[in-house]
Amino acid sequence: MIIGIIGGGQLAKMMVLAGYPMGQEFIILDPSPDAAAGRVAKQIIGAYDDPVKLRELADAVDVITFDFENVPADAVRELAKWVPVFPNAHALEIAQDRNSEKQLFAQLGMATAPYRIVDSLSDLERAIHELGLPAILKTRRMGYDGKGQQIIRNAQHASEAWHNIGEQPAILEGFVAFDNEVSLIAVRGRNGEHACYPLVQNVHKNGILNISTAPYENSELQTQAENFAARLVKELDYVGVIAVEFFVHNKQLIANEMAPRVHNTGHWTIEGASVSQFENHLRAITGLPLGDTEAHSYAAMINFISTLPNAEDVLRISGCHFHDYGKAPRPGRKLGHATLRASTPAKLQEKIAAIKEIVQLGD
Ligand code: AMP
Repeated sequence: MIIGIIGGGQLAKMMVLAGYPMGQEFIILDPSPDAAAGRVAKQIIGAYDDPVKLRELADAVDVITFDFENVPADAVRELAKWVPVFPNAHALEIAQDRNSEKQLFAQLGMATAPYRIVDSLSDLERAIHELGLPAILKTRRMGYDGKGQQIIRNAQHASEAWHNIGEQPAILEGFVAFDNEVSLIAVRGRNGEHACYPLVQNVHKNGILNISTAPYENSELQTQAENFAARLVKELDYVGVIAVEFFVHNKQLIANEMAPRVHNTGHWTIEGASVSQFENHLRAITGLPLGDTEAHSYAAMINFISTLPNAEDVLRISGCHFHDYGKAPRPGRKLGHATLRASTPAKLQEKIAAIKEIVQLGD
């Protein structure tokens, strides 16, 4: 089976590495000649919306997926006329717009942060008046890793925040004083079977994921999250891995956003779960049976952002795995990660403390 991946970043690279043992081959489409996945797979160099390149990809593969959610939905719709594309364009389109995403969450009975649509400075001023402060102004589209977001703490800063996000369609979201942030990775196969990984707890810094620890052991919230994910993947007729990020507030889940792809908060599954999110995504989109999703140890995933530590220092910690995406360093760029594994939560905390001695987290 030959699989096409639109986008050749680290997520595509980890998919390729998961697929090779199953005999799968890969072709990626990415405009950058240095794409991380280009080191492990054939690459077509071209824009994600170039019809000629997309057709070239479609002609060469059996199924197509993507490694980021801002692939133009219309391009995916066109492609799907030639070759199966998973997840589908509809799921992608909903995930690309914070308003339609929140409307879907509400329709499926899941709480979201209070929000208002903002298309102008006067909308923003009205929204601040209605929701109160602090609040977060987020572009409706193309935001990730804290980009396209402004926290507003003082109404006098409304016009500056509106300017800073580029005066584009946005939402203002009430600030959730969350106790924790968690996420759920779910996967649904082509035949409709689905499975969920244990919840994972995430800590962000400046809007970028810093550290995830798994499993987040809370059976009530696990059930809440899994019930919601079951409704979500069915409603979207979804195929592949999907991630949903939640705030935990007063022992309840509040959905923040979803990502229609493999996700940074699921990297721990490579070494910490029976079958990784990458393998399960590939099994799902190629029609293979899904693999077990349980955690077989306690695991933490530490992102290396802006700079990569010395592998030798990090690998001295027992139960540690080092991932270098092969990307050029740039401020705020995810360059790699480490996974730490331990047999108890206390031992895991010791290892996290040890890696914090070496890695400056989240700068
Ligand atoms: P997002 O791009 O929506 O995932 O936001 C990135 C991070 O910003 C989240 O993981 C939270 O840490 C923080 N954040 C976003 N929205 C809110 C909110 N409404 N209340 C509190 N923190 C938020």
